[in-house]
Amino acid sequence: MNQSTKYVFVTGGVTSSLGKGIISASLAKLLQGRGYQVTIQKLDPYINVDPGTLNPYEHGECFVTDDGAETDLDLGHYERFLNVPTSQANNVTTGKIYQSVINKERKGEYLGKTVQIVPHITDEIKRCVQILGSKSEFDVVITEIGGTVGDIESLPYIEAVRQMKWERPNDVIVVHLTLIPYLSAAGELKTKPTQHSVKQLLEFGVQPDVLVCRTEHELTPSVRSKVARFCNVKLNAVIQSIDADTIYDVPLLMQQEKFDEVVIEKLGMKKGRKPELKKWNNFLQKHKNPKHQVRIALVGKYVELKDAYKSIAEAFVHAGAANEVKVDIKWVHSESINERNLEQHLGDVDGVLVAPGFGSRGIDGKLEAIQYVRENKIPFLGICLGMQCAVIEFARNVLGMEEAHSTEIKEYTPHPVISLMAEQKSITTLGGTMRLGSYPCALKKGSHAHEAYKEDLIQERHRHRFEFNNDYQQAFEQAGMTASGINPESELVEVVEIPDHPWFVGAQFHPEYKSTVAEPHPLFQAFVKAARTHAENEDRAAVEA
Ligand code: GLN
Repeated sequence: MNQSTKYVFVTGGVTSSLGKGIISASLAKLLQGRGYQVTIQKLDPYINVDPGTLNPYEHGECFVTDDGAETDLDLGHYERFLNVPTSQANNVTTGKIYQSVINKERKGEYLGKTVQIVPHITDEIKRCVQILGSKSEFDVVITEIGGTVGDIESLPYIEAVRQMKWERPNDVIVVHLTLIPYLSAAGELKTKPTQHSVKQLLEFGVQPDVLVCRTEHELTPSVRSKVARFCNVKLNAVIQSIDADTIYDVPLLMQQEKFDEVVIEKLGMKKGRKPELKKWNNFLQKHKNPKHQVRIALVGKYVELKDAYKSIAEAFVHAGAANEVKVDIKWVHSESINERNLEQHLGDVDGVLVAPGFGSRGIDGKLEAIQYVRENKIPFLGICLGMQCAVIEFARNVLGMEEAHSTEIKEYTPHPVISLMAEQKSITTLGGTMRLGSYPCALKKGSHAHEAYKEDLIQERHRHRFEFNNDYQQAFEQAGMTASGINPESELVEVVEIPDHPWFVGAQFHPEYKSTVAEPHPLFQAFVKAARTHAENEDRAAVEA
C-alpha cells in the first residue's frame, strides 16, 4: 500500500441534495490544479449491486465508465471536472460489499469465524477505499459517502471512516457538508441543524475536520464563529458554499474560501503551486458570454426528471461554450408528440436529440420527431435508442418496410432492422449483462462523424443489448442511410448517418459520457455547430422574406 496517499471523506448532514458530488469534484479540481493526482470515489449505501438495474426515477442517469461499470451519476461530474476517467473501483455499493463478503464466506475464507458488520463489512469497505490509494498514481483519494449521516444504511460506512481516521490519523480527514438555512420570517441564518448533524457524527466517533456549509445567503462572521465553536472546528475550516449560477463556478467559489488550502494543511501536504485553472476559466468565460443562441429539443420519456439526462445536458454546456453558443434545451416528452403537433413541438428548434432508453413507452413520438427532422433538414443526433429509432423510421418511411421495428419492442416483426446481439441471446439475468464500456469504432472518411472527430479510429462507451441488423445494411446504403462507424472486430454498426442531409447522425454508443470541460465531445460540438448554422439560415430566410 502506498502510505503517502491521503484520504478525504465527504459526508453529508441535515438533508440530501446539498451537492456533495459537486463539492467533492471542486475540491479535486483545485488539488489537481496544484499538481496533485486525485481521484474521486462514491460509496452508495443502497443494496443494489450497481445502479444499472435502477429506473431513472430512482437515481437519475446511470453513468458508464470505460471499463463498463454502470455507476452513479456523480461519477459523471467527477470526470467532467477532472478530465480523468473513472473505473469500476470508483463506485462501491452496499450490494457489492456484501456480495464480496458473502462470496468469501462461502469459500471458507473466514476460517470458522462469525461474519459480522464489524470487522468484516467495515474491513471490506476500507479495502475498497484503499484499493484506489494502492494504485500509486493517486496522491489523494476523495471518497464521497452517499446519503445523510444518521441513515441506518450508512452506519457501516461511517464506522469504517472512524476506523480509518484512527488507524491513519495523518492521512485521513473528514469534510462534512451541511445546510445553514435562512429563516426569512426571523431574517436569520440558523446553525442548529448543522450543530445537530455534527453531534450525530460525534456519536459515531467521528469529528469532522472541515465543515462546508451550504447556504443561500453569505455567512456572517458571527455565524461562522458560532459554527466553529459548537462543532469543534477551526474558524478557517468553516467553508461557505453559497448557491451558484452554474456548478462550474463552484471550484472558484471554493478557492475563494481557501477550501483546498485548509485540506492541504490538515493532511500535512505540500501546498504546491497556486491552482492552475486557465482552461477552466476560459471555458467559464465562453459559457457565460455566448455570442449566439440555439434551441435544441431533447426528446425523451423522462424529461420531467432532468437528472435522467444529466450527461447529455452537460455535454451541451461544454459544446455550447466551444461554439460560443448558448444551447437552450427544449425538453420534449416523447409521449406528447404525435403527427398533428410536430410543428408546435419542433417548429421552433434548430436541432433535435433523441435520447437513449429502454422499452416501448414514447417510441411512436420519437419516430414522428425523427421523420420530421429528416424531412425538414433539421440537425439530428440520435443516441443509442435514439439511433435505433432513426434506423426504424428510415426503414418504414424510406424503404417502405411499414412494420419495421426493433425486436426489443416487437419480437416478431417481419423487418427486425434492430435485433438482439448474438452475444446477448443466451443471457437471462439483467444486472451488468449488457454490452458495456468502451469499444473501438472505425469511421468512414468524408462522413459527418469523421469530420467531427477528425480521426479514423475512436473509442466510445456502450450500454445496450440490441443492434443494427447487418442483413439490412445494403438496402439502407442504397437508399441513402450510411453506416459511417463500424466496430472493426465485430462489424457491429456503431454510427449511421444520412449524407444528403445537413447533419443527421445516430450513434449506438453514448458520446455524452465522454464530454468534459477540458474536452467537449466532438459529436456534440459538431451537432451544436450544425444547429448554429441552421439558426443562422433561418434568420437569413426571415430577413429575406
Ligand atoms: N434499449 C436499447 C438496447 O438495449 C437501447 C439502450 C440505450 O439507449 N442505452 O439496445
